[in-house]
Amino acid sequence: MSDRPLRIVLLGRQGSGKGTQAARLVEYYNTNHVSTGDMLRAAVSEGTELGLKAKAVMDAGELVSDDIMNGIVAERLAKPDVEKGGVILDGFPRTPAQADTLVGILGSDGIDAAVNLDVPVDVVKQRMAARGRPDDTPEAIDRRLALYEQETEPLLEWFGQRGLLVVVDGLGTEAEVFDRLVAAIEMARG
Ligand code: AMP
Repeated sequence: MSDRPLRIVLLGRQGSGKGTQAARLVEYYNTNHVSTGDMLRAAVSEGTELGLKAKAVMDAGELVSDDIMNGIVAERLAKPDVEKGGVILDGFPRTPAQADTLVGILGSDGIDAAVNLDVPVDVVKQRMAARGRPDDTPEAIDRRLALYEQETEPLLEWFGQRGLLVVVDGLGTEAEVFDRLVAAIEMARG
């Protein structure tokens, strides 16, 4: 295992198991989990100004503006724990403008890999129907999946062009997928 702080972007549709796997990876690598969805949900439950702005957007399955997201992430990545201990980014970037911002913060050599946890649309739909989170209305689920295709899928090519994209099959048991992720990350970090 390399000593350099880990800097991994985890991509994947809603319901791909990204959050669960990110939490396991964070423990395994003793690094920091930066989940923009978790940060926004915390702001909503604390009733901060950001939370008040974000709630309706999130409930509708829309994306919070790039300006807001870029500001939140820039602030978080500047904290000493991330600088020292690295990061697994979960849910960011989600748009090309966010990806540009990330490279601006970390530098073009500052990202080890963007790992796409690949799970087909029909499978994520079944999983989301089963988990029943309050913001998982059928309309919001469809909207989020459509936005993923429109806004986030182009990032696969974006990272691919920079030699940073790794695709990991997200089907199988949690442990199988985790082992594949670790193997992919080790390979990317050489
Ligand atoms: P998640 O838990 O990553 O699925 O995020 C939940 C919701 O928070 C999303 O449906 C968006 O409304 C919002 N959100 C999280 N991350 C971002 C982001 N990087 N850009 C825009 N909106 C985001």
